[in-house]
Amino acid sequence: MIPAYDELLFLPLGGTGEIGMNLTLYGHDGAWIAVDLGITFGGDDFPEHDVLMPDPAFIAARRERLAGILLTHGHEDHIGALPYLWKRLRCPIYATPFTAALARTKLARSGIDDALLIEIAPGERFQAGPFTVEYIAMTHSIPEPNALLIGSSAGAVLHTGDWKLDDRPGVGRGYDHPRLFALRREPLIAMVCDSTNAIVPGRTGFEGDLYKPLLALGEQATGRIVVTAFASNIARLVTLARVARTLGRRFGVVGQAMERMVALARATGYWPDDLPDLLEARHLGHLPREEVFAACTGSQGEPRSALARLSLDLHRDLLLDAGDTVIFSSRMIPGNERAVERIQQRLRSLGVRLVTDGEAAVHVSGHPAQDDLRLLYQWVQPSAVIPVHGTPRHLAANAEIAASCHVPNPRVVQNGDLCRLSRSGIQVLGQIETGRLTLQPDGRLASIPKDLLQKMRATVH
Ligand SMILES: [Zn+2]
Ligand SMILES: [Zn+2]
Repeated sequence: MIPAYDELLFLPLGGTGEIGMNLTLYGHDGAWIAVDLGITFGGDDFPEHDVLMPDPAFIAARRERLAGILLTHGHEDHIGALPYLWKRLRCPIYATPFTAALARTKLARSGIDDALLIEIAPGERFQAGPFTVEYIAMTHSIPEPNALLIGSSAGAVLHTGDWKLDDRPGVGRGYDHPRLFALRREPLIAMVCDSTNAIVPGRTGFEGDLYKPLLALGEQATGRIVVTAFASNIARLVTLARVARTLGRRFGVVGQAMERMVALARATGYWPDDLPDLLEARHLGHLPREEVFAACTGSQGEPRSALARLSLDLHRDLLLDAGDTVIFSSRMIPGNERAVERIQQRLRSLGVRLVTDGEAAVHVSGHPAQDDLRLLYQWVQPSAVIPVHGTPRHLAANAEIAASCHVPNPRVVQNGDLCRLSRSGIQVLGQIETGRLTLQPDGRLASIPKDLLQKMRATVH
């Protein structure tokens, strides 16, 4: 399978028909590029498979034709497999500075020091093999999310990556509305689009609108305030630091992943200079209760997280007492319900007051709801839409929205569908075998057997 000089091929190996472990290939003029290389977690359903990733066998067998891995942003479902799979692919990696810093740390921690990591400025255009690539700034729930405009002599595709349209993103430059709006003049032969929230009506809320409700909760609290959130959501952590300052409390983060993220945000210019210095976790424990405001890891019930330890009264630096407040500034990812509920139950039995996103406006999603999808389709006006980053139900809902926005060719495909994209539509040329790899306790990768793979694919939430 060698892509012809006049065709543009699209082949998802992971992340289409499922949420997690994204890996998408584009082929043109004798070469391929890979967009993202992510992992997913077995969760409650498959606890014996902690870390899973797409099997890259198809592209590993052709790696001399792989011009690069292009990273859209730094979430685990987009970059998490780099340390495990890069040795099978050995090609340049392209990313914007924040994502590159995350990728570099990941690679170094697994002993890879010979990967060529090329930093791209948001908005930059460059050549990767026969492809012209442009990074277009979006908003999401981590600094520097990007859509990729992938150009070829056979036409251009907008690969949205994960996105929302956030007018008050808190940190970062915001989404590039003029560039997105101008895409209607290109015109695009396809838009490959995030479907995570395609079944959610309305618009996704803005990050900047969380300050007030979080402050209101803080004003009611008398004991310690502990907020759990995703470590990579720097804007959320900045909001929490600002709330703490207004309340006259000391702010600190608890949990290694969060400490590392804040350090990275500082190093890359995403942590505002006007905020007071963070208090180290070990000092938080010595403060009077009413002065403590901590952000911590563990919003998904991870057993080794700071919140899990706090709920068991096993944390080295901090403890919780009856009357303290714990806020879940996060969404429970499907598949993690049991783990989260276990922690919440333990917190309740300590007498802690719990607040979740079901009870107060303490979280906004990083993905486009139905009206956000409509807006972007109206701006870009692509001739085809391929929904990705969702279960079959999400993909179908996104295709329906595209159709309602007069997109001529909305098309649902699955992992392994080899597609030719052209001005006359999307043609499925055939199926490429796809699979999953699991990380074994000894650090090696093993293929998931076919029967288990079917079971995993049937277990979608
Ligand atoms: Zn993401
Ligand atoms: Zn994602």
